Amino acid sequence: MSARNQSLSPIDRASDLRSDAGKLALLWGSAKILMVIDGHIAVTDASLRFLNAESVTALLTSFEVGERYFLGRARDGEQAYFAWHTSWINPPEDEAAKFEGLRTLREVGGDLDEIELTLGMHAVGLSNWHTTHPRCARCGAQTLSDLGGSVRVCVADSSQHHPRTDPAVIVLVKDATDRILLGHQSIWPEKRFSTFAGFVEPGESFEECVSREVFEEAGIYCNDINYLRSQSWPFPASIMIAFEAITDHPETAKPDGVEISQIRWFSRDEMKVAIASGDLLLPPKISVARKMITGWYTAAAGFVASDLSGGESWRP
Ligand SMILES: [Zn+2]
Repeated sequence: MSARNQSLSPIDRASDLRSDAGKLALLWGSAKILMVIDGHIAVTDASLRFLNAESVTALLTSFEVGERYFLGRARDGEQAYFAWHTSWINPPEDEAAKFEGLRTLREVGGDLDEIELTLGMHAVGLSNWHTTHPRCARCGAQTLSDLGGSVRVCVADSSQHHPRTDPAVIVLVKDATDRILLGHQSIWPEKRFSTFAGFVEPGESFEECVSREVFEEAGIYCNDINYLRSQSWPFPASIMIAFEAITDHPETAKPDGVEISQIRWFSRDEMKVAIASGDLLLPPKISVARKMITGWYTAAAGFVASDLSGGESWRP
């Protein structure tokens, strides 16, 4: 896969505006507003459903006032975007009614365009963090959202608390013949395989984490560890840092038997056949794992991404 990354987000976060409460209030009046409830976002069939300030006001009969988070502005104009993080005043008992018109990013992320996905990732990641940080980690007092939702501030000691993002490495393991190694977790649907991944631990470099995770899960050491790309993964608060790594000892790979119950080596031909026969399910297109697999697959002549369509699955 190409290591060339798009480095400029399609949304300008305009962080200089976060401290200007008056300006943010003004922008809210003409903003496109993304409703977020319990990790779910408002959608239509294949795109985000934006509210405006008036429609938010009209919904306050059923939903809490909640919090507003400034997501930024479009780069090609002045359009401002906010997340409205709210909850039901009286939640319906019926789950279907509770989340009518709302979906998770896992469910719809693959259908969204780049701008919508960027906004959705930001809104959901930020909402997840606000939900779990109502109190000060220093003194236990209440915290309040401030600076357009980019921090929370303790009401007792005024300490600022910033959103956290948990780094995790994800690794496409290859051998010298350009096969790739995928693993299956016992908690996944049958036949679903993906790349290896794990959280970076304190005091550990990304490369050390890659080596440790691949050894722990697949029993092999790798060399030639190369950075590929990164991707926000707010489920609930990760960023995936993607690498490829090559092993000289593919024959010694074995599943750890705990987290990983099966491993399989794939050549491109083997993957094509396995997908076509329903013998292999891949992670969804929104995931960096899928992008790595597709990038590898299409790097050889005669292999196209559509060969891999249809065989995909979310983990439960
Ligand atoms: Zn405090």
